[in-house]
Amino acid sequence: MNELINKSSSYYISLENEYGAHNYHPLSVVLEKGEGIFVWDVEGKKYYDFLSAYSAVNQGHCHPRIINALINQASKLTLTSRAFHNNLLGEYEKYICEYFGFDKVLPMNTGVEGGETAIKLARRWAYDVKKVNENQAHILFVEGNFWGRTMAAISSSNDPSSYDRFGPFMPGFSLIPYNDLNALEEAFKANPNIAAFMFEPIQGEAGVVVPTEGYLAGVRELCSKYNVLMIADEVQTGLCRTGNMLACDYEQVKPDLLILGKALSGGTIPVSAVLANNEVMLTIKPGEHGSTYGGNPLACAVAMEALKVLKEENLAENAYKMGEIFRVNMLKLKDKSALITEVRGKGLLNAIVIKPFGNGKTAYDVCKALKENGLLAKQTHGDIIRFAPPLVITEQHVNEACNIIERTILDL
Ligand code: PLP
Repeated sequence: MNELINKSSSYYISLENEYGAHNYHPLSVVLEKGEGIFVWDVEGKKYYDFLSAYSAVNQGHCHPRIINALINQASKLTLTSRAFHNNLLGEYEKYICEYFGFDKVLPMNTGVEGGETAIKLARRWAYDVKKVNENQAHILFVEGNFWGRTMAAISSSNDPSSYDRFGPFMPGFSLIPYNDLNALEEAFKANPNIAAFMFEPIQGEAGVVVPTEGYLAGVRELCSKYNVLMIADEVQTGLCRTGNMLACDYEQVKPDLLILGKALSGGTIPVSAVLANNEVMLTIKPGEHGSTYGGNPLACAVAMEALKVLKEENLAENAYKMGEIFRVNMLKLKDKSALITEVRGKGLLNAIVIKPFGNGKTAYDVCKALKENGLLAKQTHGDIIRFAPPLVITEQHVNEACNIIERTILDL
């Protein structure tokens, strides 16, 4: 009897409820195995994973090449700290710099640390290069931004569920509307102390908000014109997710600082990076920034393999093609169901907007029903469902997954 209880989903969920902080509200599914685009729960039920751990598993669950790199390196050397050199860091740094065309990389672990690092670099650059008076450097963000949960990240958030009753907040930040080049130029004109403009080329957590064509190029132009660093947070949109290596590639735009994370390790361990050229990167001197785990040899081995897989398996191209098929299917479904009010996205970062239905039911109820039917997805902001499967998905599986979504929505 005890053994039976120990193996059930409800047992694991009750443990989390009792002993874990209540800082998430997960769907009630307990996963124990993943392979490619599929995951299995502890009862053995198989699901399409249409979240990919918020785009960290772009290469698919437990990609054999990435897992091999992980195991090989794990059995040799995992961590030295940066007190000493290791034989992989330099190779990885060269590899990722050449891959993305930057002079230098600063390795960190989580995405939010990447954001923090980019902001520190921008502030330092403002004092050393732009000659802003000390402690006056300002960073501009956009409404609806999401880049994590640290104090700096929530200080730049306009979502009360991120910042409410966590103050006092970080000074020197302000917000303008997203996708608004006039607001950007006005802000730049009004404040000569702006060091950087930090934004996502497509807003992920805000609900897959895709800016109008020309926005990225416009941001680039204005940042150059007003001597402001352009920081692209591609933690979610980068690494082939939107059908290009970077979402910025859609407008052939190169940011001054590029933040990567999530799929940089193919969903194995936290690996993030900030890339920039020497003018920015060399403003931070030895001893002025770091992280015990940043640049560890295990992360270096895994990240190099994860990046190779993205290119060698043509995952940007596949994400582009599969995304087109997915949206065509969803638009057809929108014509059949009044529940869907909008379909949007790029590559395999997509979302549908759900109209409230049946006595206050929301996107969460749709996700629950999808789960019953064998597809895992997550709602954001109550009325939006993000669909972001691993990029290794095939056309047949896209169509099958779309059938599940269609059946679920039409049954509701
Ligand atoms: N930046 C973006 C655009 C994100 O979507 C996220 C997480 O969802 C982060 C940064 C933070 O990444 P992490 O959760 O690894 O700290």
